[in-house]
Amino acid sequence: MDPTLRPPDDDTPHPWHAHGVESVSARLATDVHHGLDHEEARRRLGVHGVNRLSQPPGRGPVRRLLLQFHQPLIYILLLSGAAAAVLGEWVDAAVIFGVVLVNAVVGFIQEGRAEQALAALARTVSSEVSVQRGGARHRLDAAHLVPGDVVHLAAGDRVPADVRIAHAAGLQASEAALTGESAAVAKHSAALPAPTRVAERSNMAFAGTLVVAGQGRGLVVATGDATETGRIAQMLAGTEALETPLTRAMGRFSNLLLVVILALAAMTFALGLARGESAVEMLMAAVALAVGAIPEGLPAALTVTLAIGVARMARRRAIIRRLPAVETLGSTTVICSDKTGTLTENQMTVESIYVGGQVYAVSGRGYAPVGRLSRDGLPVPLSGALRECLVAGVLCNDAALIKRDGEWTVDGDPTEGALIVAARKAGLDEASIAAGCPRVDELPFDAVRQTMATRHRTDAGAVIFVKGALERIIPRCARMLDAEGQPAPLDASAIDVAAQRMAASGLRVLAFARLSPAPRLACDADVAGDLSFIGLQGMIDPPRARATAAVKACHQAGIEVKMITGDHGLTALAIARQMGIANDDDTVVVGRELAAMDEMQLAAAVRSVRVFARVEPAEKLRLVRALQAHRAVVAMTGDGVNDAPALKAADIGVAMGAGGTDVAKEAADMVLTDDNFATIEAAVEVGRGVYDNLVKFITWTLPTNFGEGLVILAAIFAGVTLPITPLQILWINMTTAVLLGMSLAFEPIESDVMHRAPRPPGQPMLDRVLVGRIVLVGVVMLAGAFGLFVRWSGLSGDVAVARSVAVNVFVMVEIVFLFACRSQRRPLWRIAPFSNSWVWGGVLAQVLLQAAFTYWAPMQAVFGTAAVPPAAWAEIVGIGLVALVIVELEKAIRRPHDASMRKSAAQASSSGK
Ligand code: ATP
Repeated sequence: MDPTLRPPDDDTPHPWHAHGVESVSARLATDVHHGLDHEEARRRLGVHGVNRLSQPPGRGPVRRLLLQFHQPLIYILLLSGAAAAVLGEWVDAAVIFGVVLVNAVVGFIQEGRAEQALAALARTVSSEVSVQRGGARHRLDAAHLVPGDVVHLAAGDRVPADVRIAHAAGLQASEAALTGESAAVAKHSAALPAPTRVAERSNMAFAGTLVVAGQGRGLVVATGDATETGRIAQMLAGTEALETPLTRAMGRFSNLLLVVILALAAMTFALGLARGESAVEMLMAAVALAVGAIPEGLPAALTVTLAIGVARMARRRAIIRRLPAVETLGSTTVICSDKTGTLTENQMTVESIYVGGQVYAVSGRGYAPVGRLSRDGLPVPLSGALRECLVAGVLCNDAALIKRDGEWTVDGDPTEGALIVAARKAGLDEASIAAGCPRVDELPFDAVRQTMATRHRTDAGAVIFVKGALERIIPRCARMLDAEGQPAPLDASAIDVAAQRMAASGLRVLAFARLSPAPRLACDADVAGDLSFIGLQGMIDPPRARATAAVKACHQAGIEVKMITGDHGLTALAIARQMGIANDDDTVVVGRELAAMDEMQLAAAVRSVRVFARVEPAEKLRLVRALQAHRAVVAMTGDGVNDAPALKAADIGVAMGAGGTDVAKEAADMVLTDDNFATIEAAVEVGRGVYDNLVKFITWTLPTNFGEGLVILAAIFAGVTLPITPLQILWINMTTAVLLGMSLAFEPIESDVMHRAPRPPGQPMLDRVLVGRIVLVGVVMLAGAFGLFVRWSGLSGDVAVARSVAVNVFVMVEIVFLFACRSQRRPLWRIAPFSNSWVWGGVLAQVLLQAAFTYWAPMQAVFGTAAVPPAAWAEIVGIGLVALVIVELEKAIRRPHDASMRKSAAQASSSGK
C-alpha cells in the first residue's frame, strides 16, 4: 500500500491528486466500475455522516439584532425617548424605549424566520447525482454520497463532493466558487506532482464547483465538511439579504421622512416658543409629532408580506431563490419559455418513421411498448433501412425503459426513451442489440451541436451512429440507404419534404445516419462527412393541459408569451399554434436568421415575433437584452449550462427543478419544481397579489401617521393641549399595526389580478389616487379626533376623557378603513366578508385592547386615559361610518379609471394573439 496515503477518515487532507486512479480506489476500498455495494455505502454514511456543510455562514445573531436599530426612523424614536427622559417623563421614556426594543426583537425574529424559510426552500431544490453502486447507475440525493462512491459527472452538474477524476471526456469545471478563477478548467485523470496547489489540481473536481462541459466519472474522496469548500468554510450561496427594490425604496422614503419629521418637530418647537408656550410642553409636542409620524410597523409588515408571498409561491410549486423576484414577478410583461417539457409534457412517442422514401406509422401512445408498425394500414416486415433506423435509435441512446410499479417510465432523456419504445414495438430488444454491438466511444448530445454520436464494435467492423437535428445531419451525408438498406444517391429534397411534413403536424423530428468503416470518435470533426443517411423518426410531445390555459391567462393579464426552442421551426410553430401562442399569420424566426440580425433588426423582430426556433442558448441572451431594450420585464426559462447567462440577465430567470441542471438553477431567481409553464403564470399571479397586499398595507397605515401629525400641528396652531400624548400615539401605532395591519398580508389574491395590465416597473407604489385617499382619511381622522377632543374637553372638563375619545376615534377609523382597504378597487360589499379570518381576529383583539386601554385602571394610570361615556361612543362610531362612506364614495368615483385600465390590458392581450 502507498505509505503516503492515510485513511479516509483522517482529518488532514490527502494528496489524492498525487496518486494514480488504481491506488486511490484501492485506498478507498472501492471499484471504479462497480462502485460501492449498497450495504457498504450505508455503513460509510453512518461513519462519515451526510454530505452537507454543517454551518452555513450568515450574519451573526448579534450583528443582526444591532442592525435592527440602524434605521433612521428608529434614531428619531431614540432621540424622542431621550428627550422625554430629560424632561423627567419617565413613563413616556420607558415606553418609547420599550417600543424600540420590541420593534427590534420583532424585526429580528421575523427576519430570521424569513431568512430560514428562504434557505429551507432553497434546500428543497435538492441536488441529485448519478452514482455507480452495486454495479449499476442510480440517481441519489447528493447528501447521501460517501467517500468511495463513484459519481458520474456531466455538463450542468454541480460537483457534489471532492472527487478524484477517473475518466474524463472533454470534462471542464468552473471553479470560481472555490478559486475565484472564472475560466473553466479542463479535467483529466492522470496523477500530478504532490506539491500541486489546489487551484491547479486538474485531476480533481471540488465540491460546489460546476461542470460546464463534457462528462466524466470520479471517486468521491471527501464529503461534507471534509471537502475543500468545507475546509475553507466558504459556502457558495450564503443566505440572501432580505432586500428588494421595494424595501430599498422604503429605505429612501424613510430617509425623506426623517428630514421632514425633524424639520416639522423643530418648527413646532420654535413656533410654540415664539408664542410663549413652555419649552417643556413644546418639546413633548415635538416628540409626539415625531413618534406619530413614524410608521413603526412598516418594515416588519413588508418582510412578513414578502415572506408570505414566498410561501404561497412554494405552494404553487415555484421556489423563489431571490426575494426581489416576488415583486418583479408582478410586473412581468413578457415570458419567454422553452417548449419541450415546459409548454409540452416531454412525453415523447414516435408516431412516424421515414426510411427509403417510405413513411411508416407507429401506433400506441406513451412509454408502454405496445403498438405496431404499419404502412398504409398494413403490417410491415422488419428489415433493411427500417430495421437500421430503429437499431440506430437504440444504440445511439443513453436512456433506459423501465417498468416501475406497473408503469412504464424512461430513465434518461424522453426523446431517447421514445426511440427504445418504437424499437420494442417493432419486436427489437435493445439489450441484446447493445450486447452484440458494444459501445466503445461517444459524443454526448449537446444543445449547440444538436447531435449525438456513438461508436460501436460489430462483427463487420466499427460503426458510428449519429442522430440529431435534420439540418445538422443532412449536410454531412454523402448518400442514403434505400428501403433494402443498400447505399443509394442522397435525395436531400425528398427527405426535407418528409421532415417538413412531420414537423408541420407538430412532431419532433430526429434524423439518423451512420458511418462505416468508422474512425475514432473524439470530436465532432470525426463525423463531419461521408455519412449515410438512414431515416427520420417523428415523435409527438403533447402540450401540457394546464399550460395552454396558462397562456390564455397570461394574454388576459397583458403578458406576452414567446416560445424559444431548440426544436425545428415548423414543429415549434405547430405547437405554438395549438397552444394559442401564435396564430395562423405568425411566422417563425430561426436561430440562423437571428444570428444574422444586427441589434437594430433584432430589436424590431423581438416585438412582433412569437416563436423562435433552433435557437442556440447564446442567442437567448441577445433576445433578453433586445426585449429589455423595449423596457420589457422579461421572465426567461432555461435548463442547460449555456442558458445560465440568459437566466442571469433576465428580470426573472426561471430554471427547471426536475429537468434542469444545477448551473441553471444557481443562475435563476425562481425554480419550478414541476417544470410547468403554468407554474410561471401562477407565480406571476401570486406576485401581483403580494404587491397588492403591500400597497394595501401602506395605504392603510399612512393616514394614521398623517392624521396624528396633523392633530399635533393643529393643537399647536390652535394653542390647545395635545389631544393625544406621545405615549398614546405609540399605543395606537404599535397595536393597530400588529393586530390590524398585519392581517392584510394574509389577504387572499383578488380574482381580477390577472385581468389587469402589468404594473409598469418604474411606477411609484402609491399612485395619485392612493395618495389622495391617504390624505382624505388623514383629514377625516384630524377632523374627528380634534373635533371630538375639543368637544369632550368642554363637556367633561377632563382632558383624560377627551384624549381617550380622540385615541378611540383614530382606532375606529383604522378599523373601518381596514375593511375598505381589503380591496383598492372593489366596493366593500363586493369583498367576501370572511375570506380573511385574520382581519376579524385582529379587530376582535383590538376592540378588547381598546376596552382595557379605556376602562382598566392600571392601563388608565400608565396611558393617562379615562372612561369614555356612552354618548361619546356613539359619536366615535359615527365618525367611523362617515370615514367609510367617504372612502367608498371615492372608490366608486375612481372605478371608471379602472375599467379603462382593464380595457388596455384586454387590448394588449388581443394584440398578443
Ligand atoms: P427546448 O429548448 O424547447 O427545450 P428542445 O428540447 O427541443 O427545445 P434541444 O434539446 O436543444 O431543444 O434539442 C434541439 C434539437 O436537437 C431537437 O430538435 C432534436 O433534433 C435534437 N435532439 C434533441 N435531443 C436529442 C438527443 N438526445 N440526441 C440527438 N439529438 C437530439
